[in-house]
Amino acid sequence: MASFDFDLFVIGAGSGGVRAARVAATAGAKVAVAEEFRIGGTCVVRGCVPKKLLVYGSEYAKAFEDAKGYGWTVEWARFDWAVLRENVAREVDRLSGIYLRNLNNAGVEVIHDRAELLGSNTVRLVKDGRSVTARRILVATGGRPWRPKDLKGVEHTITSDEAFGLAELPKHVVIAGGGYIAVEFASIFQGLGAEVCLVYRGETVLNGFDDDVRVHVHAGLKNAGISVVTGTVLQEVSVRANGRKMAALANGMRLETDLVMMAVGREPYTQGLGLEAAGVAMGPRGAIAVNAYSQTNIASIFAVGDVTDRVNLTPVAIREGQAFADTIFNDRPTAFDHRDIPSAVFTRPQVGVVGMTETEARRVLGRVDIYKTVFRPMKHILPDNQERMLMKLVVEAATQRVVGVHVAGPEAAEMVQLAAIAVQAGLTKPQWDATCALHPTAAEELVTMREKFAPLALRGA
Ligand code: NDP
Repeated sequence: MASFDFDLFVIGAGSGGVRAARVAATAGAKVAVAEEFRIGGTCVVRGCVPKKLLVYGSEYAKAFEDAKGYGWTVEWARFDWAVLRENVAREVDRLSGIYLRNLNNAGVEVIHDRAELLGSNTVRLVKDGRSVTARRILVATGGRPWRPKDLKGVEHTITSDEAFGLAELPKHVVIAGGGYIAVEFASIFQGLGAEVCLVYRGETVLNGFDDDVRVHVHAGLKNAGISVVTGTVLQEVSVRANGRKMAALANGMRLETDLVMMAVGREPYTQGLGLEAAGVAMGPRGAIAVNAYSQTNIASIFAVGDVTDRVNLTPVAIREGQAFADTIFNDRPTAFDHRDIPSAVFTRPQVGVVGMTETEARRVLGRVDIYKTVFRPMKHILPDNQERMLMKLVVEAATQRVVGVHVAGPEAAEMVQLAAIAVQAGLTKPQWDATCALHPTAAEELVTMREKFAPLALRGA
């Protein structure tokens, strides 16, 4: 039998790679993981974690305003970007350190180098120059921001990668895109005090989400004071003599601004990895094609996480990494089920969703019952805060199974994480209704909605 340097070589120490490496090593495998940047990957270093901390920071402005309704006088509130930026950076360092310690404790060899494939069982460490062999290789290199190369002046724009380290907080920001990252950073910058203009090529942000959620968020962004320009794209970005940027839009508008941020999607990070040399088949958009067990067409090479462009979320990468390691090293064949994955958008209003949208459910299941409520959460009444909360349940008519939960408003993500248990378990609307309300909460509306809504078509949508 051929002998190898390692049982498993993981390329990329992000959420998926770290989980797989640790589980495999704990099962007794000899494991190495190579990382060219920082341990922790996008989520820990320049994604979910630092983003959520900025979201928390940005929510204080509105909280100070609302505090007046509760009798508080907040006179000296001032924001210092450098303090938040450095505190966030310190927390990222701490978490990255924990990831590293966990790998070390599990007995994984951590290699701070870029690794590229040379063949089905061989990788080359770029700085070191050394080649190592492994019985199995797991590619977990994630994704990276995509920018249109043909955009004139694209070099004057930033992406979310650079947003965390800005030397100064811009007074005015133009953000291109209408997806997760665009709307999250629009709310962050606006909350921290910048004027924000969102430029989106469609009509309503958050394509792919339930239409009611999209409309609710779109209106919410505008009500919060964000200027939203739709139906157009950036055409050129230039730098003016005064050092500010000029964003020219295809509709003829020109926006003078301090910062232009592109949030028009991410792409699998596969460039230069040597996948062709190893004969690995690729899917659309430069993603690695894998089967349900995250195995590529080359039996010894596997891939998990954003590099496979399945569902690009941290917990999904973790579960794919776990499933891979269980299958190969724990003798427990596991294919992660990509249905009913909850997700959140930490914009204002916050969004939490799980399961099918109304449109998708009608297409796939036929007849569905819709329950919906829009109300002002109790917390907003005294401050006269006009922000409303949307809750929507999509129910399969024939079985009464709740197949979709859509919430937009304060703490939506926290609610939907719990609601996801019921959706995943296939509980029915009568079972939701049999659950006693917890009063007074906003979440109690989820178990007290009784009135069905007419189908979208009858509502004139
Ligand atoms: P998204 O795919 O969510 O959104 C991309 C946006 O850019 C869309 O509005 C899209 O428009 C627009 N767009 C695409 N191409 C162009 C173009 N050529 N010109 C102008 N506009 C364009 O990508 P994000 O970058 O926001 O996020 C990437 C992924 O990262 C997400 O899909 C998600 O999986 C993950 N993520 C998750 C988060 C969370 O869970 N909270 C947070 C951040 C990221 P259109 O709608 O018309 O297609």
